Amino acid sequence: MRLNLSDTFNKELPTDSNNKNTRRQVFEATHSYVNPKVPSEPELIHASHQMVEAIGLEEKDISSKEFLEIFSGIKIYPKTKPYAMAYAGHQFGNWAGQLGDGRAINLFEVEHDNKRWAVQLKGAGETPYSRQGDGLAVLRSSIREYLCSEAMHYLGVPTTRVLSLMLSGDDVLRDMLYDGNREYEKGAIVARVAPTFIRFGNFELFAARKDYKNLKKLTDYTIKYFYPELGQQSKETYIKFFKEVSKRTLEMIIHWQRVGFVHGVMNTDNMSILGSTIDYGPYGWLEDFDFGWTPNTTDKQNKRYRFGNQPNIGLWNLLQLANALYPLVEEAEPFETILNHYQKDFETQSLQMMRSKLGLKHADEEDSKLITDLEDCLLLSETDMTIFFRLLSDFKKNEFEVAIEQIQEAFYKPEEIKGKVLEQWQGWFKAYDKRLHKETLRDDERKAHMNKVNPKYVLRNYMAQLAIDDANKNDYNLIDELFELLKQPYAEQPENDKWFAKRPDWARHKVGCSMLSCSS
Ligand code: AMP
Ligand code: MG
Repeated sequence: MRLNLSDTFNKELPTDSNNKNTRRQVFEATHSYVNPKVPSEPELIHASHQMVEAIGLEEKDISSKEFLEIFSGIKIYPKTKPYAMAYAGHQFGNWAGQLGDGRAINLFEVEHDNKRWAVQLKGAGETPYSRQGDGLAVLRSSIREYLCSEAMHYLGVPTTRVLSLMLSGDDVLRDMLYDGNREYEKGAIVARVAPTFIRFGNFELFAARKDYKNLKKLTDYTIKYFYPELGQQSKETYIKFFKEVSKRTLEMIIHWQRVGFVHGVMNTDNMSILGSTIDYGPYGWLEDFDFGWTPNTTDKQNKRYRFGNQPNIGLWNLLQLANALYPLVEEAEPFETILNHYQKDFETQSLQMMRSKLGLKHADEEDSKLITDLEDCLLLSETDMTIFFRLLSDFKKNEFEVAIEQIQEAFYKPEEIKGKVLEQWQGWFKAYDKRLHKETLRDDERKAHMNKVNPKYVLRNYMAQLAIDDANKNDYNLIDELFELLKQPYAEQPENDKWFAKRPDWARHKVGCSMLSCSS
């Protein structure tokens, strides 16, 4: 197993002078050296062949002893120095101070095919940033992160990736519902991969401590490696940097809205500086279309991170990043301009994204109304978002009267689609038909376009739970089945039609399906 190592983060940025693995506040450093905990009996459950190759390994390496040892944390790859990153964050709207990698340990960076990848183990044991935690991760949350990262990538959503999923062989004590019932669960380790794992919170940590020297070092480093096109160190470059991060963050969230993904914990420590989805915790997928839905039981009261609020939270988080970067620029106006733009860009891009879901190529001034009217219809009675948009592509011009039958499968309670509800739907289909007559695409062409933006298969909450239930009984077949299925989310896969189905009734209120806590 040969890797083309290219460590930069731990070589170019300031290291914590204390080498002990004790929980503490760490100052004037971006990271602390710490080795992963040695797991008792690691076992490889699954590996992402595509990512294995992306970091420069070969398929045959996956079954090697070295792969198992390096990506479970038993052995340290020669000439590398694993480390945990220091960051802070705003959690649920409140300043939380220093957080940091409490259970993630970065192994190394590699370069392959002109791409830089940082490899990190999640669930690899205590670090100076573990606070009250044990540094470990349970199998259920690891499966969820593992499957969803790759599924998001294939959906075309920017995201961190994964390399492997392993059992640690150690049991982990968790109070899954925070109700006092603690139980031992299987421990697991995910090796995840991204160009960098730097978050908004890394900048916030230095800014909060008025450590502007290191704030600048971190910003210059980030621009040098991940935004080199922005130019040399200068105030203008820092502003351009913020603008680019805003742009990417918005694009990522628009993708989330398009596919019905709810992150669940959009704290600033969970916001990647690359505008990629990071830290899959109590995330979920919209089943019935509902702006107010959040899968996170920890957020049940305020629903801060509900589906419809994600774009606003993106803006709120960017404001925190702007505050953190401000000392490097010392002018508020450029930041304000960019933040104001976010709001406008959100409206334009959101509209454009919804047009694409409806198969509309051209812009019409009444499109906003058409879309709001559709959203109103979707909220009339529980309607499955994924199924609705996928079936809508079968719509044929002039045939609006049968449209409601074509999308029947999307309704959770078809008996409710009558009277006023039915009339409202029929009115909408009629309006949609009229609108389609202003387009030039043929029905089949429109369908092809729509099927590229409206996935047929997503990782429904209950699907991940089924894979978890099996894995807890040592059966990993479903992990592989879902992994393969979700590699082609837009394709018709007739042999997999059972996964193009509404959430089954048993999953409606089941823990892990509709309700998830931060316990992981
Ligand atoms: P999260 O909500 O998972 O993004 O985590 C928030 C913070 O808590 C981060 O600093 C994590 O590293 C830390 N954390 C979460 N779980 C654990 C754990 N089991 N042990 C130590 N730190 C943890
Ligand atoms: Mg996190």
